[in-house]
Amino acid sequence: MIRVKSAREVELMRQAGRITAAARAYAGKMVAPGVTTLEIDKAVNAFIRSKGAVPTFLHYGGFPKSVCISINDEIIHGIPGKRVIKEGDLVKIDVGATKDGYVGDCAATFIAGKGTEEARRLVEVTRQSFFEGIKYARPGCRVSDIGAAVQEYVEKHGYSVIRDYVGHGVGAVLHEDPEVPNYGVPGHGPRLVRGMTIAVEPMVAMGDYACHTLANDWTVVTNDGSLAAHYENSLLITDGEPELLTWPEGFDI
Ligand code: MG
Repeated sequence: MIRVKSAREVELMRQAGRITAAARAYAGKMVAPGVTTLEIDKAVNAFIRSKGAVPTFLHYGGFPKSVCISINDEIIHGIPGKRVIKEGDLVKIDVGATKDGYVGDCAATFIAGKGTEEARRLVEVTRQSFFEGIKYARPGCRVSDIGAAVQEYVEKHGYSVIRDYVGHGVGAVLHEDPEVPNYGVPGHGPRLVRGMTIAVEPMVAMGDYACHTLANDWTVVTNDGSLAAHYENSLLITDGEPELLTWPEGFDI
């Protein structure tokens, strides 16, 4: 069941979203060669708590840390630990914060140091595919219109869209209905109406979209070892353009 949010709930989601966006930017600033993923996790946990919120991902479904940090061929659900970030690594930060009972969820891909031109292009195409998709995140459109637009943009650039993992409704819990795939044909799925809150999150591979989960039962990697990127915001369906709840992208709180 899709839960349409009241004005009060939307205000709480804005609050959670601002904190989550700032946590993403805070983590992104820490991405650099020589830093461990656990250092980022600990700092982001403390940052979120300093804003009166709690890290949504910590213990969610048994996830052991506060931030998902996935590197290079890791697409999502990387577990922070002793791994040291290296020059040129593609570092995906996915973070959630819960404040006063409502959740923000967002992600971005950061490059440690300069990175290669092809890595920078993958990151930019992935980010832009989100904005192509959310042109359809408005009343009168259907959920699959978003994914169809993401897929078209991504494939036009020679990359592939991960299919095994999807965006989702977000609200009082991290994952609500509906599922929001990043691929498919337009005109299917629930109709979008004002007051819905969803997380749109393209996951894009430089090679094939086939993926599998590592033995730690969490981290999802591309089967062909190709680089992957991820970008996500939680957003509100309004009467017109969607309102991005996990915003701004810069560190601004
Ligand atoms: Mg999400």
